[in-house]
Amino acid sequence: MGCRPRIPAGMVELRNYIGGNWVDAEGNRRIDDVNPATGEIIASVPQSSAADVARAIDVAHKTFEHWRKVPAPKRAEIMYRVGTLLRERKEDLARKMTREMGKVLVEARGDVQEGIDMAFYMAGEGRRAFGHTTPSELPNKFAMAVRDPIGVAGIITPWNFPMAIPTWKTFPAIVLGNTVVFKPATDTPMLALELVKIFEEAGLPPGVMNLVFGSGSVAGEVLLKDERVRLISFTGSNEVGRHVASEAGLGLKRISLELGGKNAVIVMDDADLDLALDGIVWSAYGTSGQRCTACSRVIAHEAIHDQLVERLAARVKTLRLGDGLLETTDVGPVINRGAAESIDRYVEIGKAEGAQMVVGGGIASEGDLAKGSFYRPTLFTGVRPDMRIAKEEIFGPVLSVIKVKDFDEAVRVNNGVTYGLSSSIFTQDVNRVFRAIRDLESGLLYVNAGTTGAEIHLPFGGVKGTGNGHREAGVAALDFFSEWKSVYIDYSGQLQRAQIDA
Ligand code: NAD
Repeated sequence: MGCRPRIPAGMVELRNYIGGNWVDAEGNRRIDDVNPATGEIIASVPQSSAADVARAIDVAHKTFEHWRKVPAPKRAEIMYRVGTLLRERKEDLARKMTREMGKVLVEARGDVQEGIDMAFYMAGEGRRAFGHTTPSELPNKFAMAVRDPIGVAGIITPWNFPMAIPTWKTFPAIVLGNTVVFKPATDTPMLALELVKIFEEAGLPPGVMNLVFGSGSVAGEVLLKDERVRLISFTGSNEVGRHVASEAGLGLKRISLELGGKNAVIVMDDADLDLALDGIVWSAYGTSGQRCTACSRVIAHEAIHDQLVERLAARVKTLRLGDGLLETTDVGPVINRGAAESIDRYVEIGKAEGAQMVVGGGIASEGDLAKGSFYRPTLFTGVRPDMRIAKEEIFGPVLSVIKVKDFDEAVRVNNGVTYGLSSSIFTQDVNRVFRAIRDLESGLLYVNAGTTGAEIHLPFGGVKGTGNGHREAGVAALDFFSEWKSVYIDYSGQLQRAQIDA
């Protein structure tokens, strides 16, 4: 992406959305939004200044006073309309997504579907958002806990699920009565704009949802520092996540961090290998390995290791790289040239560490692929758990196979990384399944399925270095986006002292 002062004819020109108005950023600084499969420039994107973001925060802060008092079922009616519009536009949004970030169309449709599911789920919460009542220890006294909205939510998102992740954050925030300043990833502004247009069309009052485009270091930073922003919901890399934690932590904000992963599929000696192969290929190479839950390690029991590797290599060789809009494509581009180069550096590290690269390796540049950013689906065997390619998040179509002797070693290898997002085990043995549920350190666990495929009504998130203990989606999201208020109502007509008079 480069700075461009003027907008060529025919290019889509994006604007910030602040207080219900579509506005240019101060100074009209802009960058290009590029299709990673073709190199085509698809939009011109404003680069907000600190003052632009401060204006958005100001509007969100003032709007909160009104929005928090709108009954939650009324807020939820808007969310039903958002869900309906998303459903009507699913195909168009999926195509735009593939054009903007590269994932193949079938996966882009799934990304939009997550947003649709989340809209209807959170719309339902408008008539639940349950608190609780509980007996008081004192006579003639009533006790309950209710959910309060918190205030301005700063929402900072990555590019790999450009519709799903913003919906996981903005939908619960808004239904629960918060207002939002949303800063999407610089690589996927178009999908953020489409989502905000849908909110506008669905009748969301001005100022509840505000959108600011721009870099993390300028626009994102303001959200972390401004004291009027009371919570930050961040999904992205560990490096930036740590910075978010320290910077926003200074202001005592509520902070949810959803960070990287180094997810593993364990294949035991009794596994259905056909099924395991399907699960591994889908979760390792889908979205070109750029899902936070992508499988990047296979932990294979020695009894089936050689057979599994041979069959896996044969499958990976058949994967076809290309533009995700083409039906012939299995694996789309990676997000940009810098990402392709970073993946390639890891592949070189793997070779230097002594792992055997049995398939792939290298940025692909034959024919039309030269116009985009494509990395060949890559498979390493002979990987040891202490190698960097077995420990660090690569975020590309690179898979490492690690051989183990038994179940206990498989658990040790699975748990021997700093991350803990998603794990999977293929086995027919119910005893092993329950030991896996007990012993694998991860926020998500799949039995006889790959590492991806979360459903929106269950808690989503990871343990250890994948985050800071919060969960998105499901009922767990309500706890992050609301504040508990405990209320005591004494109707005895006299002073009753808890712990003293009881
Ligand atoms: P990133 O950390 O580079 O960027 C994420 C967001 O943070 C972007 O919007 C970026 O502009 C913003 N940002 C950057 N610097 C900032 C700063 N100083 N202050 C405030 N905001 C700042 O991540 P990415 O490359 O967009 O996404 C890939 C990463 O996201 C991977 O590590 C992946 O595992 C992770 N991810 C995690 C989950 C999860 O739920 N655990 C889901 C998807 C992606």
